[in-house]
Amino acid sequence: MREVILCKYGELILKGANRSEFEAKMMKELRQRAKPLGKYTVQYAQSTVFVIPEDEEAQDNIDRMTEEAKHVFGFAGISRAAACEKNMETILAVARDYLPERMAGCRTFKVEAKRSDKTFPLKSPEISGEVGGAILSRMPHLRVDVRNPDIIVKVEVREREAYVHAGQEKGAGGMPSRTAGKGLLLLSGGIDSPVAGFMMAKRGVEIEAVHFDSFPYTSERAREKVFELAKIVTDYTSRMRIHVISLTHIQEEIRDHCDEDYFTLLLRRYMMALSLRVAHNFGCKALITGESLAQVASQTMDALAVTDVMADMPVYRPLIGMDKEEIIAIARKIGTFDTSILPYEDCCTVFTPRHPRTRPELDKVLAEERKIDFDALCDEAWQTRRTVLVRPYAEPYYEEHKTQI
Ligand code: ATP
Ligand code: MG
Repeated sequence: MREVILCKYGELILKGANRSEFEAKMMKELRQRAKPLGKYTVQYAQSTVFVIPEDEEAQDNIDRMTEEAKHVFGFAGISRAAACEKNMETILAVARDYLPERMAGCRTFKVEAKRSDKTFPLKSPEISGEVGGAILSRMPHLRVDVRNPDIIVKVEVREREAYVHAGQEKGAGGMPSRTAGKGLLLLSGGIDSPVAGFMMAKRGVEIEAVHFDSFPYTSERAREKVFELAKIVTDYTSRMRIHVISLTHIQEEIRDHCDEDYFTLLLRRYMMALSLRVAHNFGCKALITGESLAQVASQTMDALAVTDVMADMPVYRPLIGMDKEEIIAIARKIGTFDTSILPYEDCCTVFTPRHPRTRPELDKVLAEERKIDFDALCDEAWQTRRTVLVRPYAEPYYEEHKTQI
């Protein structure tokens, strides 16, 4: 049995003039993902993108290709279909052989036929009737229910051939990758920020990342963990550049000269300043963080305001209204959770205050900040920046990357 993959649009259906640009991007991405798996044709017809294996390798890899398709933003549903010649006898034979496995566990079904080839001798209701009969003869325990069936069997008679399929798996949804501008993700090794990056990528944002470490207070392994998290997110986004900046000296200066209660807030202001610098230099139009209101002392309304006043571009916080449990559910779904909970240190936890301010006043924060030379320390930290490029299929999956500024 020859199978093909049908990728159905989600929200994209609503788009008008720029729809074809979006379609082209999604098809290009499917082609790129297909490349290592064999020879596939990717073609569009009537709100569906067809991924058709053209050689044996491609046919053998169709499971993996289906998984790839499920990672392409913009498609709401992915189904596998049996492809066959356009004559009724073959269609019925395929329905009898192919569907039992797909319909296992179902009790009721209905058949929907679509005929875009109007020269086909049977009309759609006739095709549905015959295919329904074939299904019932093979699986007599089933019942037809046109109102609320467990599964909908679809028969599509198209220009090139006919397709029979049942059931659709969820696609990645969202908007096509890299169609909504570039954002800079503040990426830590925690649970939240990879989820925040994923959520914005799902809206079509191209993700660039910045990670702050505090070597030797934080380890090489902690840094690698962040790269691994990025790699998991790149299963959806294809590649990601990460700028790594050391906060070691800044943290030591804060520790030596400032009031302990303000440590975290001061550190976050440095992170903000340096992130803005990265964003401006690399064409990012927004910052993205994994902050969630009131999750910790530095994420109260007042504490967030202390960093927000510095921002001269929007700060997207897709998790701001979410509970930890909801965030964890997404982390599990996208596969970052198990890596996020590996116990490595983060620069935020290096010198943590015993009594962090939850209602900081900006003038007091600024007074603390003036005890050390903010600009000079930022310049110095900027010099420690190095950049890596994370790519999902490459070996090794990340490598040093030269940037020009
Ligand atoms: P979790 O809360 O799951 O431990 P987190 O990444 O959210 O992880 P927080 O301390 O809550 O950690 O930090 C809030 C946000 O600040 C993060 O979501 C992230 O966007 C940013 N951030 C924290 N630490 C770093 C870091 N070392 N490098 C870059 N961004 C960071
Ligand atoms: Mg957090």
